Amino acid sequence: MKQNGFGPVLIVIVVALLAALIWMMFTCQEIPSAVTAQPTQSSAGTSSAPAETQKSEPVSSDAPATAAAPTVTQTVPDTSAAETASVTIIDVTVPATTVAPTETAAPSAAAPSRTSYFVLSSAPATSVPATTVPPATSAPATSAPATVPATSSAPPASSAGTPMSFEASLGYNEKSASLYAEYAKSHPGLDSQTVVKEVNIGLYRPFYTDPEPVDDPSSLLVLVNKYHYLPSDYEPTDLVDLKYRHPDRTSKGRVTLRSEAAAAFDKLCEAAADEGYTILGFSGYRSYSYQQSIYSSYCKSDPQSVVDTYSARAGYSEHQTGLAIDVCTDEYAYNKFGKSPEYQWAKENIHKFGFIIHYTESNKDLTGYKNEEWHFRYVGVEAATFMYEHCLVIDEYIALYADSV
Ligand SMILES: [Zn+2]
Repeated sequence: MKQNGFGPVLIVIVVALLAALIWMMFTCQEIPSAVTAQPTQSSAGTSSAPAETQKSEPVSSDAPATAAAPTVTQTVPDTSAAETASVTIIDVTVPATTVAPTETAAPSAAAPSRTSYFVLSSAPATSVPATTVPPATSAPATSAPATVPATSSAPPASSAGTPMSFEASLGYNEKSASLYAEYAKSHPGLDSQTVVKEVNIGLYRPFYTDPEPVDDPSSLLVLVNKYHYLPSDYEPTDLVDLKYRHPDRTSKGRVTLRSEAAAAFDKLCEAAADEGYTILGFSGYRSYSYQQSIYSSYCKSDPQSVVDTYSARAGYSEHQTGLAIDVCTDEYAYNKFGKSPEYQWAKENIHKFGFIIHYTESNKDLTGYKNEEWHFRYVGVEAATFMYEHCLVIDEYIALYADSV
């Protein structure tokens, strides 16, 4: 009976103890879970607002996420750390990827990169690919600028495996050293002297690109070509009529040259006549506006690219100097002059009177004009004789001897 009375009490106690134990277990789990919940919530809280930030920088999410994780456990700074990290990443990645299409975003960032590319590309050709490669290969940014000058000093000696010493070439200009190297690379097979000459002429760029006004329009050695132009208002002050000119032109108007050139041309015609040849002036000085009307009338029937091969744009015509004359004979029109016996005489004699034949079949790539056997240019006896003896035209002469001219 006693045992029977004690039994229920025991059961009650055991049940009470069990209940207490279960309660304690729940309570104890809630406390640590509250501690761990802090960071979870903070990261969740962060993700609520910056979630967009993180999504907006999908690429960069990996690195900052991992880096932020350990810090996050702490407290508030985590959030700012994560944000800072993500912001930094955006700064680095976005401009690189986004700037190109946007173009509105970073005018300051886009400009320098273009400038530096331009500088590099106008530097020796060899340094361009060389420069582009190193930064990619060698990670540290510091090594990039260090490599550039080192590489750019190399090209002159290594354009195509053959050492080229531009310095020893006539007309070498230190300022154009990088252009020589670049031109040599894009024109394999040219010797260094030709490279220097052609670069000096300006052939490394298309005709009419970055043209320059002539220094002295009234110089007898003025160079007017597709890189050098005359002022639109330039008109020689000493134009005189030619004594020997085609009869048709006499009725249509004057055929003039500057006085010195006109006198020399008259002598030339007389010397030719003494040997039985008839050379006549057909078209001498032309004003800017007249050249403009000629050129634009050609453009009505031919594409400009074609017209450019046989007619000069206004300001770019040697005729505006008053030192150029198109000739004919009494039997051959000016554009047939190349077929005349007079042309054969002219080739070997006009230099004695200070003239050269400027546009020939062999130099058309250099001048940009088709052959014009009828176009004589006055440069003076000394220069003309030199050019004749060295098979040069004025563009080459200036390119090679600019210092002594
Ligand atoms: Zn002409």
